[in-house]
Amino acid sequence: MKPFDVYPLFDIEPVKGLGNYLWDNKGEKYLDLYGGHAVISIGHSHPEYVKKLQEQTASLVFYSNSVKNSLQEELAQKLGKLSNCKNYNLFLCNSGAEANENALKTASFFNRRKKVIAFQKGFHGRTSGAVSITDNPNIIAPFNENNNVQILPLNDEQALENAIDENTSAIIIEGLQGIAGIYEPSISFLQKSTKLCKEHNTLLILDEVQSGYGRTGDFFAFQKANIEPDIISVAKGMGNGFPIGGVLIHERIKAKHGMLGTTFGGNHLACAAGIAVLDVIEKEQLMNNAITQGKYLLEELTQIDAIKETRGRGLMIAIEMPYEVAELRKNLLFEHKIFTGSASNKNTIRILPPLNIGKEEIDIFLNALKKEINI
Ligand code: PLP
Repeated sequence: MKPFDVYPLFDIEPVKGLGNYLWDNKGEKYLDLYGGHAVISIGHSHPEYVKKLQEQTASLVFYSNSVKNSLQEELAQKLGKLSNCKNYNLFLCNSGAEANENALKTASFFNRRKKVIAFQKGFHGRTSGAVSITDNPNIIAPFNENNNVQILPLNDEQALENAIDENTSAIIIEGLQGIAGIYEPSISFLQKSTKLCKEHNTLLILDEVQSGYGRTGDFFAFQKANIEPDIISVAKGMGNGFPIGGVLIHERIKAKHGMLGTTFGGNHLACAAGIAVLDVIEKEQLMNNAITQGKYLLEELTQIDAIKETRGRGLMIAIEMPYEVAELRKNLLFEHKIFTGSASNKNTIRILPPLNIGKEEIDIFLNALKKEINI
């Protein structure tokens, strides 16, 4: 048997990670400005994270959700405090798609409706419900096609006002669109969405799977708009590589036994990873670092004339060139040993480094980029 061949692969095999760096099986060192797709939040193999996982592995890796697990309580309490989202309860699962799947289901249980409004270029995952609200026909199988979804242009308040009605269960918005190439819902659009949801008894879901966990400098990207969504989905940075996802559900939405469930979600090892990540983000003030380093990178990028546009906040940044960037990314990787991210906008490089990146690493990238675009 071989792996099902669905991923186009770079011919590199990382075998070790530490902080912002990776090493491949030939001993070559790489700077990681991709974070394994915004997953590495506190840096590879952070010592506190490693210790916590080792200790938890030695005591108990897993038991089912049919017994008490105080690690879930500790994780929920710490997440509520650090994110300043105290009026929520936490359902734990294993991935971003699963978080959104449960978010959609919770909304539909709450108002007994089916229709969902999502946005152009958005990405919410590949499971049945999550993919049906994702604006990419190439990854929607006939089985996933769903007549209850309306895809609207992002930031078009009038279109949203026209579309929402008494059948709309939820509006789902990425806190900052990632895979699309870093496009941000405006403060006004987020506030208008909140207002329309309240008027129609529709739930507002913020997909913070990529933009959450301090990546933009706020714990959640939507927090710039001072709104309180009904549901927030999280994953990626939550476990620094350990698969864990979660749904923050506003306390006015009541739980009922059996309403949601999972075998692996919230297991002991996943919770230990989640707790270590929150402890390190707080102790090392990584949200502040995301703001400082992100600002520095954006300021420097803005001075490079060859770049068409820069977008983003904190350490979730797009560099758009006037041409397709596949070759440029390849050169950065193979000539300069720097991992970067792509986007569905083929002219865009996405920068999603661990949140503890320093100025020194950003300068390494800037020098390599300037060399490659000949300035
Ligand atoms: N939502 C957003 C905004 C994402 O960027 C992603 C993954 O890239 C997902 C959901 C799906 O997460 P996962 O791949 O963990 O299922």
